[in-house]
Amino acid sequence: MLFALVALGGGLAMALIVSGVMFLRLHEAELLIRNRDAEHQGVLDRLHENEYRLRAIIESEPECVKLQTADGTVLEINPAGLKLLDADRPEDIVGKKIYCVVAPEYIDFYRENMRRVFCGESVVYEFKVHTFKGRTAWMESHAVPLRDARGTIYALLGITRDISEKKNAEEQARRHQTELARVARLSTMGEMATGIAHELNQPLTAIANFARGCIRRLHADGMSPGELIEPLEEVCEQAERAGEILRHVSDFVRKSELQMKPLDINQIVRTVVKFTESEARQQGSIVRLDLDSGLPQVQADAIMIEQVICNLVRNAVEAMADSQWSRRQVTILTRLVGDAVVEIEVGDTGPGIDGAIIDQVFDQFFTTKPEGVGMGLSISRSIVESHGGRIRAESGRKGGATFRFTLQASEQQANKHERANSIHS
Ligand code: ADP
Repeated sequence: MLFALVALGGGLAMALIVSGVMFLRLHEAELLIRNRDAEHQGVLDRLHENEYRLRAIIESEPECVKLQTADGTVLEINPAGLKLLDADRPEDIVGKKIYCVVAPEYIDFYRENMRRVFCGESVVYEFKVHTFKGRTAWMESHAVPLRDARGTIYALLGITRDISEKKNAEEQARRHQTELARVARLSTMGEMATGIAHELNQPLTAIANFARGCIRRLHADGMSPGELIEPLEEVCEQAERAGEILRHVSDFVRKSELQMKPLDINQIVRTVVKFTESEARQQGSIVRLDLDSGLPQVQADAIMIEQVICNLVRNAVEAMADSQWSRRQVTILTRLVGDAVVEIEVGDTGPGIDGAIIDQVFDQFFTTKPEGVGMGLSISRSIVESHGGRIRAESGRKGGATFRFTLQASEQQANKHERANSIHS
């Protein structure tokens, strides 16, 4: 019995010890959980605080801040953004496509920039909007891609501001400059024409006088044919002088001697795009490049060829400036045609060229523009032909004009290319 009691007492003590240990463990676990909860709560609080702070910054930001998806749906926009678009409530624009405010002629351009952002680029672009209250304004957006923890781009973060005032001032200055350039061009041409007329006047008057003298003598009685020889020789001499003057004029025009060098034509195209792109953008056009990277160098005068491409791009942009052409795109393409000839193509999505006038567009002074001079294409043709190339115009059946011109590859490059081709064949 005693033994049994002792044994029971031992078991009880053991049970008490075990339950005591378990109680202590439980308590520890409880404390641990409580601490972890507190830790989690702390993290959550800090996250909320950060979000609140970030929101406060964005909400009070004086510039428009917005988040968009790849298809242009606006996810979020701050009060400054609502004000910029003359929206009364966030629902006016949140959940809707941004294209409901982008001016129609800028939609393609806007889409192209969105595409670039969702490919990982940070871009700055200018475009026009028609706000909810029907106001037209110029905007400048700085857009960057937003990535999740795995690096996938899930939204575009754009900071946009109204640049209408700056744009209007620029537009005024540009118009003023264009007008100045036109006047300067006309007056230079006028001066040249007056100079030539003045120079030619003398031999022409002399020719007329000598010819009249000959007629008088022919009418007179007893005139011997030998008497006509001297005045007729004078007529020939004066006519030759007139020819000489004209030769001088064309020499003078050609005098700007060509600085022919081996050039990378794609680089020339990029340079032209750099200084014509903003003008194109102002007219709502985008310039796209489709350049063959494996081209040989061409033998050309860089400035002259820049001038040709510039004329073609400007003409394309001007042809599309009429607002009825909502898709305004200039495409510049380079390609190899044969072993030693490179072709440069400038195409547009404008109205095209009427079949009745397409043969005249390269003629001097041919223009269909109220403010045109009609010298751009004629000068371009002279430049291309002086490089040994050819230029031609084509018009699509559904509109769109395409100008193509050729340049010779530089000799060294052509040889290299030929050698490479014969190795391949
Ligand atoms: P200008 O630009 O002063 O008129 P150009 O010699 O550059 O002189 O052009 C002559 C004419 O050719 C233009 O007035 C226009 O009728 C036509 N033209 C040139 N480029 C295009 C184009 N991309 N689309 C339609 N027409 C064009």
